[in-house]
Amino acid sequence: MALTDEQILQVFKKTEGILHGHFVLTSGRHSDTYMQCAKLFVHPEESAYLCGALAEKLREFNAEIVVSPAVGGIIMGYEVARQLGVPNFFAEREGGSMTLRRGFALKAGMRVIVVEDVVTTGGSVKEVMELCRNAGAEIVAVASVVDRSGGQVDFGVPYCALLSMEVKSYEASECPLCREGKTPAVKPGSRGLK
Ligand SMILES: [Zn+2]
Repeated sequence: MALTDEQILQVFKKTEGILHGHFVLTSGRHSDTYMQCAKLFVHPEESAYLCGALAEKLREFNAEIVVSPAVGGIIMGYEVARQLGVPNFFAEREGGSMTLRRGFALKAGMRVIVVEDVVTTGGSVKEVMELCRNAGAEIVAVASVVDRSGGQVDFGVPYCALLSMEVKSYEASECPLCREGKTPAVKPGSRGLK
């Protein structure tokens, strides 16, 4: 089941996973569009539909486990793992760095797919990749629902995204929305959440 960009966008619009307004991204840059993937995962049926399409692309990697960065990647990681028929862990920040807690432990040589909801710079994904490799695991692929880098990010392994979107963003000092002075920029992301 390969979905078209239009079909995927329809699901996002239906679940209000695309927000329009004035936002501060994790990078500190401003944008008029924000992909709020959490809104997609409010709806189990739509989540299963999109993650199922992604899981189809991921099957060829014969992964043994899915690992995702908290918080954004947790629900998606669970659903992709469920559809692939493999277990899943999530990594979380402790003292600023990504760690596996709660008795989660990777075995050496394990084939891992790292799953994140939205990739912008890929920072969290790269941290989780390093964490898994330090445990001796092998990263066979990275997957996300949305690639906001517009294909610019390079993980050094195959990367599957359902939707590749290049959303314009601006340095805060050069933001046209700020200049218009209409609405203050808001930060809808989850980094820094305890
Ligand atoms: Zn702005």
